[in-house]
Amino acid sequence: MDLSQKDNLLLAIKEEVIACQKCELYKTRILPVVGQGNHDAEIMFIGEAPGRNEDLLKRPFVGRAGKLLDEALKEIGWPRESVYITNIVKRRPPDNRDPFPDEIEAYKPYLTRQIEIINPSLIATLGRFSMNYFVPSAKISRDHGQPLRVNSRVIMPLYHPAAALRSTAMMNEFKKDFKKLPAVLRKVLSLGGVKEQKTV
Ligand code: URA
Repeated sequence: MDLSQKDNLLLAIKEEVIACQKCELYKTRILPVVGQGNHDAEIMFIGEAPGRNEDLLKRPFVGRAGKLLDEALKEIGWPRESVYITNIVKRRPPDNRDPFPDEIEAYKPYLTRQIEIINPSLIATLGRFSMNYFVPSAKISRDHGQPLRVNSRVIMPLYHPAAALRSTAMMNEFKKDFKKLPAVLRKVLSLGGVKEQKTV
């Protein structure tokens, strides 16, 4: 699929998410935060749900957690514009509460299609909600930093940057895991990568 086709399909998803009333979140947040970045990215970062700053700017990871994500990307030499960043839930839950299962379910078809269209070789999940979206039985304290194959995708579970900001121990783990990303991506690509195997 060429880039302009991807751009059109992702724009169509954005419009559908704006119109989506499948869960209650649309009542408090009119405009969603759908995602941002390179539509041809090799790596996609998936967080939980927009917070206050994201909701204001309508872009994912632009608050304190986003600054940490930006710094970590810089350290491994990946410009933010080269990756794609989104969340499992596209509207901010009130008072930043955890997303409810029906909210995760409501946005699932959009995230599924975003992944199909961008077709990244590697998905880095940020936090346990995003990790458990792909691997319900995984435990973040046990499974972070170890790539997992889920169907035809490779998932790299990372701690959520907001959790890293709350604890030095988690910050160290977050940074250590993050630094593994280039090698994990190289390995996925050298094994033929998901991208090469698929004809979308
Ligand atoms: N936390 C998330 O999970 N996603 C964002 O976009 C911002 C903070």
